[in-house]
Amino acid sequence: MTALPVLVLGGGIGGLAAALALAKKGRRVRLFEQGSELKEIGAGIQLGPNVYHMFEVLGLTGAIERWSAHPENLIMMDAITGEEVTRLPVGSEAFRRRFRGYRYGVIHRGDLYQVLLEACRAEKGIELNEKRKGLGFEEKSDRIVLQLDGGEAIAGACLIGCDGLWSKVRAQILGDGKPRVSGHIAYRAVLARAEVPDDLWQNNVVLWAGPKTHLVHYPLRRGELYNLVAVFHSDRYEEGWDVYGDPEELARKFEHERAEVKRLLDKIDVWKMWVLCDREPARRWSKGRATLLGDAAHPTLQYLAQGANMAIEDAVVLAAYAEISGFDWAKTFRLYEDARYKRTARVQIMSRYYGDAYHAAGVVRELRNDVLAPRPGAAPDFEGVAWLYSGITLPQAGKT
Ligand SMILES: Cc1cc2nc3c(=O)[nH]c(=O)nc-3n(C[C@H](O)[C@H](O)[C@H](O)COP(=O)(O)OP(=O)(O)OC[C@H]3O[C@@H](n4cnc5c(N)ncnc54)[C@H](O)[C@@H]3O)c2cc1C
Repeated sequence: MTALPVLVLGGGIGGLAAALALAKKGRRVRLFEQGSELKEIGAGIQLGPNVYHMFEVLGLTGAIERWSAHPENLIMMDAITGEEVTRLPVGSEAFRRRFRGYRYGVIHRGDLYQVLLEACRAEKGIELNEKRKGLGFEEKSDRIVLQLDGGEAIAGACLIGCDGLWSKVRAQILGDGKPRVSGHIAYRAVLARAEVPDDLWQNNVVLWAGPKTHLVHYPLRRGELYNLVAVFHSDRYEEGWDVYGDPEELARKFEHERAEVKRLLDKIDVWKMWVLCDREPARRWSKGRATLLGDAAHPTLQYLAQGANMAIEDAVVLAAYAEISGFDWAKTFRLYEDARYKRTARVQIMSRYYGDAYHAAGVVRELRNDVLAPRPGAAPDFEGVAWLYSGITLPQAGKT
């Protein structure tokens, strides 16, 4: 008898990465996505050296390199005074040496998604289903059954809930209610190269930190596009995703900031808006034959630019433990969450702190600038981010 397939609910970056990682371990995977098309919305995404290691494990390095670009620096600017607060030379040889030869990158979400999708389509063992919404699951002694909208019931060996922030699988496993609305709103847009004034174009990820606001920009698609993300505090919105933003509200929030910031914001007529949410870290997110992955397991604010990076790490770690445990799913999921909860919790918690630092006002803002100011003559210091960018050591058989 053929083994029952692995069921993956949700076809975002996490769902595709999970399907791919498990297919590469010889598993048959059936993925169900509620959307009418498998695609990724939004604009740029930053890739730490930690996720380039995962791309290598998944055999995606060449495809990712074709689409990603490598900025020279991550730079924080003070949006009130225009002074540089700090920079991390992520394009330097020293950075690369420090992080096992892996680089820092930026990529269009659509391109990252396409790379994952094509890799999944090339795997015979993966079946991708669109317009199929999961409602819940039922566990039997030898299988799990996923209920789909419309009445269909799908049997599998296990279920991986990759269904994002509002996960139905999480609701059933943890039942911990709605995500936490942070009170921070992100507006995202992309400019064509020709629309960006020459003096504002640079091959860096630049973050303009202002009181209760920030603006991030960086080039995408090898310099054809410029990605903009503007964030501000607002209690006007409770929930929402992928809706149009209000440029007048944005202009008001940034009105006291540097001309460079306002000139870039003025270039955009149409913004997409995201209400940013996260959750408190969980110690466990599996139950029997069901588990969670990516934003369903550990949704984070985007201030470390690592949510998708963590989802891809999750996928690789889960597949490694599945193989080691001989595809005993309950054991796999226990080992997987033991390996992942502290690292992903640290990303969730540190992202909040980073957000506070970016949005600092008054004396706190001045102190931030003093504390982060580089020491004259000192070499770039990568140790503050080493816990994150050094990545993970993959589990090996016999060492669990
Ligand atoms: C402004 C912003 C900037 C960001 N920048 C970065 C960055 O630079 N780097 C980074 O690593 N991360 C970044 N992130 C985070 C990153 O976007 C997310 O962490 C990542 O996309 C999560 O992927 P996921 O697959 O877990 O969830 P999702 O992308 O939410 O995918 C979930 C999928 O499941 C489907 N689904 C949901 N419910 C069901 C159901 N019941 N049945 C079937 N399908 C279902 C959805 O349609 C969706 O396709 C950013 C986030 C934001 C908001």
